[in-house]
Amino acid sequence: MSNKTFSVCPSRRAFLKNLVFMTSSATLASANPFLGDEENNRLKKGEMFYRRLGKTNLFVSEISLGGSPVPEEALLRQIIERGVNYIDTSCTYMNGNSERMIGKLCKNIGREKVQVGTKFHLRRNWNEESIIDSVNGSLRRLDTDYIDVLLIHGARNEENLTDERVIGAFEKLKKQGKYRFRGLSCHTNHHRVVKKAVECGYYDMIQLGYNVFDIQDTEKEIKTYDDYLGESGIRHLISLAHSKDVGIIAMKTLKVGGRRQNLAKYKTGNTSLFQAMLKWALENKNISSAVIEMLTYEEMEEDLGVVGLSLSAEESKNLFRYVAENSVDFCHMCGLCQESCPYFVKTTEILRYLAYYEGYDKRALAKKAYSKLKPEQTAFSCRDCGACEKACLYGVAVRKRIREAHRILSC
Ligand code: SF4
Ligand code: SF4
Repeated sequence: MSNKTFSVCPSRRAFLKNLVFMTSSATLASANPFLGDEENNRLKKGEMFYRRLGKTNLFVSEISLGGSPVPEEALLRQIIERGVNYIDTSCTYMNGNSERMIGKLCKNIGREKVQVGTKFHLRRNWNEESIIDSVNGSLRRLDTDYIDVLLIHGARNEENLTDERVIGAFEKLKKQGKYRFRGLSCHTNHHRVVKKAVECGYYDMIQLGYNVFDIQDTEKEIKTYDDYLGESGIRHLISLAHSKDVGIIAMKTLKVGGRRQNLAKYKTGNTSLFQAMLKWALENKNISSAVIEMLTYEEMEEDLGVVGLSLSAEESKNLFRYVAENSVDFCHMCGLCQESCPYFVKTTEILRYLAYYEGYDKRALAKKAYSKLKPEQTAFSCRDCGACEKACLYGVAVRKRIREAHRILSC
C-alpha cells in the first residue's frame, strides 16, 4: 500500500512515505515523533483506517486478514479492494497453500498492495540453518523476494528470543534483504515472552491474543463491564510494548464459541457480538490491527463493517453480559498450569487445541494437533495432583478440561 493517496498535507505525506520504507533502528524508537501522537498514528483512505505498526513505520489496516485458512481468490481480492493491506500467514498454514495463495494474489494485483507477515517455527532440533531453510521455503511459496514482517511462530520460551541461532538467522536473512521487519507471535507465557521481546530491543512488532476475556484482577468480584475491561495482564504488556514503540497486532479477538454458535441473544440492534468484540479490541489505541479470518462475503461485511465505529454503551452492556455468562473455564493461555505439572502433561497446549475445536470451529485442525501429542503428554499421564489448578489464576478446572479434550479430540 503506497501512502501517496492518503489525504494528508504534502510535507507530511512525503515524510510518511519515507518513513514507511525505512528499516527499523533502535535509535528511532526513542526519538520517534509518532509516539503518543494519536493523530499521526492513524490515517484514513477510503473506508479504511490505518494505524502505524510501531517502529516498523508501516501503516496497517485496522482489520487485517488471517491466513489460516485464506479465502478463495475472488473474496481475497475484494477484501484487499476494501482496504485491508496486511495478511498474516505462516509456513505451515494449509500445508503451505496459504502462502501459495497469497503469493498468487500478490502477483496478480501487485506485490506493493499487500504487506505480508509470515512465520517460521522453532520445533524439534531447530537451528540457524533450519530457520533459514524455512524462510527460503516461504519466499518460494510466496513467489516474492522479500517478506514484510518475519515472525517467530508461537514463541513460548523467552530465552529463544535472544538465542544466537535465532539472531544469527535473522541477521543473515536481513543482510540478504529477505525481510524488512521482524517480530514474533505469542500464544502462551505472554508475561515472560512479551516482556523479553520488548526489553531486548531486537523486535519490531508482536502478535498476541487480546480479547474481552482479558480480565486483570481474578480475585475481584465481577460486577460491571469495567471490571472486565480494567487493566489486564495483557493490557499491561501491550502498554509496555507501546512505550518502546514495538507494534502490536491483536489475534484471537473473536474468542467465542465459533461462528456457528447461536450468539444472536448478545446482539445490539444490528451490531453482532463479533462486531462488538472487534470494536472493543480496536478501542485500545496501542493496538495497530486486529487480525481476523474472513472466509465468506458475510464475514467480510460483518468484520469490515466496524471500521471507524466506536463501541456504544448498549453494545458494552451486551458484551459484558456475554463475558459474564461465558467466562467459566476460559483459558488465557498463560502457560502456568503446564509449567507446574510434575508429570509434564501439556495442559496449555491441550486447552489451546480444545479452544480451536470449541471456540473457532476448527475441528480437523484441533484433532490433528492433538494427535501429535504423545500419550504421556495427555490426560493419560495425569495423576490428579491438582498442581495445575493451584497455579491457574483464573480458576480453570484444568483436570476436567483435559479429560474433556481427550474425549473430544482423540476420536
Ligand atoms: S492434576 Fe494432572 S495435569 Fe494437573 S498438574 Fe497434576 S498431573 Fe499435571
Ligand atoms: S488453564 Fe489457567 S493456568 Fe493453564 S494456561 Fe489456561 S489460564 Fe493459564
